[in-house]
Amino acid sequence: MEYFSTRSQQDRVTAAQAIAQGLAPDGGLFLPEEFPALSQSDLEELTGMNDIDRYCKVLGLYLTDFAPEEIRRCVLAAYGEGFDSERIAPISKLDEQDYILELWHGPTCAFKDMALQLLPHLMTAAMRIVGEKRTAVILAATSGDTGKAALEGFCDVPQTKVMVFYPQDGVSTMQKLQMQTQQGGNVQVTAVQGNFDDAQTGVKAIFGDAQMARRMEECGAFLTSANSMNWGRLLPQIVYYISAYCQLVADEEIALGDVIDICVPTGNFGNILAGYYAKRMGLPLGRLVCASNENHVLTDFLRTGDYDRNRPFYATNSPSMDILVSSNLERLLWHLLGQDGLVRERMQQLAGCGEYTIPAQALAQLQREFAGYYCGEAGTLAAIRRVFERYSYLLDTHTAVAYDCACQYRSQTGSDRKMLILSTASPYKFPESVASALGIDLAGKEGLALCEEIARRTGAPIPAPLAALGEKPLRFSEEIPCSRMAEHVLRFARQ
Ligand SMILES: *Cc1c(COP(=O)(O)O)cnc(C)c1O
Repeated sequence: MEYFSTRSQQDRVTAAQAIAQGLAPDGGLFLPEEFPALSQSDLEELTGMNDIDRYCKVLGLYLTDFAPEEIRRCVLAAYGEGFDSERIAPISKLDEQDYILELWHGPTCAFKDMALQLLPHLMTAAMRIVGEKRTAVILAATSGDTGKAALEGFCDVPQTKVMVFYPQDGVSTMQKLQMQTQQGGNVQVTAVQGNFDDAQTGVKAIFGDAQMARRMEECGAFLTSANSMNWGRLLPQIVYYISAYCQLVADEEIALGDVIDICVPTGNFGNILAGYYAKRMGLPLGRLVCASNENHVLTDFLRTGDYDRNRPFYATNSPSMDILVSSNLERLLWHLLGQDGLVRERMQQLAGCGEYTIPAQALAQLQREFAGYYCGEAGTLAAIRRVFERYSYLLDTHTAVAYDCACQYRSQTGSDRKMLILSTASPYKFPESVASALGIDLAGKEGLALCEEIARRTGAPIPAPLAALGEKPLRFSEEIPCSRMAEHVLRFARQ
């Protein structure tokens, strides 16, 4: 199967090239030329398989230039020991209608692990296939979850180094502790004096610096990123939708062919887009409910067809969804507008005046597939409390946003379909918010101490990787001004 860019259809590349390159040379995102169809009998076959076999089978449909043994090796390395549950992504049933797909049983307790545990293995396999001999230096600025997941995913993976910058005061206590205690011989973590935007701007400047590229070349390295614009990060996400559906069939919660709805807490639009791709492959999914927080640029877009980032930015209690420019929407636009020229035009408008509109016909098509809802901060805490009181089940803030939006969708549309709600983080990554939702007195506690208090009150176990943080030595406590980021990257590349 070949891949092309959302901004020009001329150049075709293989899967290995798309993954090794990350972004297309014209700045666009890679898309597969087709979505392989899953028939009823394919789904039946997948239903009879275990998780690992399902993952290998679906990945193989897209990674046609990878040998099947290579794919299996990657899948086993990614989802083996690092996951604490018997299933890679277990499903919890709240009641006859609502099911929670837990995507946070990996080593960093957030759903980013689902893709970032696999991507490093896909990337090094892809580098072998295309004959890339240089070391990939993965550079990331993070507001919390992505940085830790990238560090853990690339930790000690040969021919790679990973370097993460986080804003000194811009990540949660647990997230900071997770990064400062990172192990591995090829990693580095640095706090920068400034906010997330400062760190992000610093990283972008380094990527755009031609002299930096030459210096990297001199030490046999090249810079690359691990964000969700890389096809290798989106693909693993398609797989878990298919696997979850098969699991519901295997568990006799639904019959093969039954249509279910999904609800996804959304930021960069990567997760929900993967759901849309699973649907295009023939998975019986109904509406894709896109859940947002107070930064509801996507809700407005799905309702009006007008994307407008000119609005205040709110730092909320679901920080991984605090995003005003959802990069993966560019892929969806390509499917709606069908012509690369029209996508390029919209992206230029977004970069220029921060706004674009899609035609009425495209909007109608969009609304057939997606529905948008949002939930504010108070509603998020209320949802955590309501679900705990009713089902003794503890949600994190991001999943709580999705739960609330799923309820809104059902009451507004009268839908009686079963709903799969995607759960993107362990509640113990955000203990301050969860405790206040449950009415637990913080009493000056934070981080791990607060996790223990929540566990004592609720009986929900703290995931082992978080519980173990207290015993790990702090390895990285360096703090630098943004002006020194480039020099830091070079020194690390040369080590
Ligand atoms: C990244 C993230 C999201 C948003 O996912 P997208 O693919 O960017 O839409 C939601 N919740 C959590 C906890 C995350 O880490």
